[in-house]
Amino acid sequence: MIATSPALAKTLVTALPGDGIGPEVFEATRRIFEAAEAPVEWEVAEAGAAVFRKGIASGAPRETLDSIARNRIALKGPLETPVGYGNKSANVTLRKHFELYANIRPVRELPGVKTPFTGRGIDMVIVRENVEDVYAGIEHMQTPDVAQCLKLMTRPGCERIIRAAFGLAQAEDRRKLTCATKANIMKLTEGMMKRVFEEVGPDYPDIAQDHIIIDNCAHQLVIAPEQFDVIVTSNMNGDIISDLAAGLVGGLGIAPSSNLGDHAAIFEAVHGSAPAIAGKGLANPTALLSAAIMMLRHIGAFETAETIEQALFITLAEGENLTGDLSPRGHGVGTDKFVGQVIENLGRT
Ligand code: NAD
Repeated sequence: MIATSPALAKTLVTALPGDGIGPEVFEATRRIFEAAEAPVEWEVAEAGAAVFRKGIASGAPRETLDSIARNRIALKGPLETPVGYGNKSANVTLRKHFELYANIRPVRELPGVKTPFTGRGIDMVIVRENVEDVYAGIEHMQTPDVAQCLKLMTRPGCERIIRAAFGLAQAEDRRKLTCATKANIMKLTEGMMKRVFEEVGPDYPDIAQDHIIIDNCAHQLVIAPEQFDVIVTSNMNGDIISDLAAGLVGGLGIAPSSNLGDHAAIFEAVHGSAPAIAGKGLANPTALLSAAIMMLRHIGAFETAETIEQALFITLAEGENLTGDLSPRGHGVGTDKFVGQVIENLGRT
């Protein structure tokens, strides 16, 4: 009897299309996955603006949390926190609930995406601490005129993100880890991250290591971005410099990220809901698609990840069907046409 290889088992993934352009870029990703026969099955769930409006103050209902807890993998569109409903962002709630302490934001030049930095060899990963710092949500009014937000940083929190960054550098065969902090001013909180970096550094003798003050890091990212390989930093610093770094290589329309913890992983674009272009069919789906490609590698579907990534790169390099954010003349194609071209290029990989 001739043995036939079994079909690749499908991984059930919680799908959170999200708000604004979220459903558009999610549908784009879903179509490309379907055309590439990606081994993924979606379990659609709700979070964000519509959930707040139903009066669920967390922005993420119990069914959504249960779905992510069961599947341990989610792909998420951007979520809005409407003013006047709920206090905390649903993003922060999800990251905190599943203790997704490592936010991984790769930044690299993509074929065909022209920027003033093209050809400089930008290829770095920003590893952002994702559950502590001023984003822990400890904020209150002291008096009607005085608001206070506490910056919470812990030694175990610093150690696990720094070790995650060293581990990523080793796994991706990268050479250097830079720790970026404001230790010169916030000596106990940011200073703790610097001290822990110096303490655990000797455990990774194969990785070059240095420390930089975060404001100079922002400056150096613009002056000489190619010097950076992996950057580890605290939550708010990472949020800001990763948007800056995305801007060096083509903007938020192409920037992916993953939120990793010990028990679950949520993949998403760096960008938000882009209300100004929502519903117009203009959004660039590259960021969410690239996050979904990271997700495929996370679940071990390396071949499909490679096929989709190559089709995306061919489409970008051809330059004929770029969305408006990437079109040098400012008149690009819509999401639909871009997706159609990626699907056509799946056959050329
Ligand atoms: P944004 O990222 O939504 O938009 C910033 C700029 O980038 C806008 O000019 C937008 O048009 C452009 N842009 C973003 N994504 C694009 C894409 N895929 N294609 C083309 N252009 C794109 O940031 P914002 O306006 O500050 O935030 C809007 C909302 O999103 C807010 O409610 C914010 O809280 C939320 N947000 C959510 C997340 C998340 O869910 N992870 C992240 C950031 C912001």
